[in-house]
Amino acid sequence: METVNKFDVLVIGGGIAGLTAAKTVAVSGRRVGVVEQGKLGGEYIYNYDVPAEIGLNAVRAMFSLEAIQRFGAKKRTMSLSLAGLERERNEVVKNVEGYWGEEAIKRDGVEIIKGRARFVDGEVEVVSTHEAASKAKGGAPKSKKRLAATRYIIATGSTLNQGGITVANKVKIWTPTDVWTAVRLPKTLMIIGAGMSGVEMAYYATKLGLRVVLIDRENRLLPNEDEEVGRFYSAMFAKLGRVSTVLGAEVESVGEKELILRRGNTKKSLPITGTSQVVLATGQLPNVEALGLDTIGVKIGKNGIVVDRGLTTSNSRVYAAGTCVDDVPSDLAMLMGKTAALSIISRNAPIMSGASSPRTLGLTPSYARIGATETELRLKNARYKKSVVLLSEIPRGRIAGGDGFVCVLSDVKARIIGAKIIAPEAESMILALAAAVKYQMTVDELLKVPVPLDSWNEAIRLALTRL
Ligand SMILES: Cc1cc2nc3c(=O)[nH]c(=O)nc-3n(C[C@H](O)[C@H](O)[C@H](O)COP(=O)(O)OP(=O)(O)OC[C@H]3O[C@@H](n4cnc5c(N)ncnc54)[C@H](O)[C@@H]3O)c2cc1C
Repeated sequence: METVNKFDVLVIGGGIAGLTAAKTVAVSGRRVGVVEQGKLGGEYIYNYDVPAEIGLNAVRAMFSLEAIQRFGAKKRTMSLSLAGLERERNEVVKNVEGYWGEEAIKRDGVEIIKGRARFVDGEVEVVSTHEAASKAKGGAPKSKKRLAATRYIIATGSTLNQGGITVANKVKIWTPTDVWTAVRLPKTLMIIGAGMSGVEMAYYATKLGLRVVLIDRENRLLPNEDEEVGRFYSAMFAKLGRVSTVLGAEVESVGEKELILRRGNTKKSLPITGTSQVVLATGQLPNVEALGLDTIGVKIGKNGIVVDRGLTTSNSRVYAAGTCVDDVPSDLAMLMGKTAALSIISRNAPIMSGASSPRTLGLTPSYARIGATETELRLKNARYKKSVVLLSEIPRGRIAGGDGFVCVLSDVKARIIGAKIIAPEAESMILALAAAVKYQMTVDELLKVPVPLDSWNEAIRLALTRL
């Protein structure tokens, strides 16, 4: 087959990691193309980040309306409208497409090639998505394209990990996308997986008046976070009502009428009523299969494609970025895309520093974490100091009333190595601590940064003085 095109850089996958990479390359005047099998923008625009943010924004607005009842506002029954949420989603998606959509990306000087890509003979073979689907059903694709490039960036993202759970043929299981974009909802959601995604969906669903059963193989909510975080949100759910938990139980199968759970050697059935819907929130797996990576010597590790700090794979002409490398949030996926592109086009390319970006949970109060967790430090037998301040200890907490805490961790040299916050504006408050972790600031150095009087940030200051 003839090679029809030669690019300086060819990006495989047009999610935000791939598009950020392509836009960065295009600025340098090089010829760059993106191969995308579906819609540009990937999971960010259509499936997770944007739809979830709209749902959680609506819930926040509801919370503010409820809060003004403290000031004597008359109590009214409020409910969210799924049709209203859909209208808002369509509007926001249109706006976001103005930046990430096909026309915008073309204007930035990036060529778009539609179809499914894989490596063949050191080049990229692209089959149109329609034909790839027909081939999967036994039909033969009629036309294929061969593209070649001096450098390649793989940014193929990830897909839901079914986690070995068997699903009966007739059962339609939901993904998080189905929840965030639903125009009709069942009475009960049975969410398998009580990590960040499962907990956010549970909160949203309760605010829409649904009942929720949260199931996890671990013994607590948010098992990847420190224990007190899971405990806080468990207590919050208990207060809200409507959420029940089944913890320490591994789901083996989903049938039409029951879930089969295993606890040690004991199996148990959990009935699924006619008005319930099962949702999988069991994590993601990198999209690395069927890319022909073995034919070009690109290694795959436990979390995804193996890269160095410049995001070069084990093949020096091939780079990788985004969730095909690791389970990263969207800001980090974009940073990886940019870093991979700069590694190619710049002599002084930056390297991924390894400092994590903040992890956040969009509930009210929200949660944000940066740097090391205590669980990680204990596993490493690392020596550290910990300081916790309850929001009720600071003036703002006493005035505004607020559940939550700030916890700061420092190492033996008094450098700030991690922090977690549960507060009304945790995702904004974490910024100062994120800067401190990134630049290895000491407790005394951060204490020199002034803090506005009566702000939530006084809790950070108080926590630092106690270290
Ligand atoms: C349930 C859930 C909730 C999340 N919520 C948040 C959140 O609230 N905040 C946050 O910051 N992050 C969140 N994330 C993470 C965020 O969605 C990802 O970090 C981001 O979307 C990753 O972008 P990406 O470009 O790496 O991958 P993707 O968006 O998956 O893009 C990859 C693209 O590659 C294409 N592709 C794959 N294989 C091929 C092929 N062979 N040929 C051509 N094209 C191909 C796909 O069609 C896709 O468009 C969430 C993730 C999940 C799973």
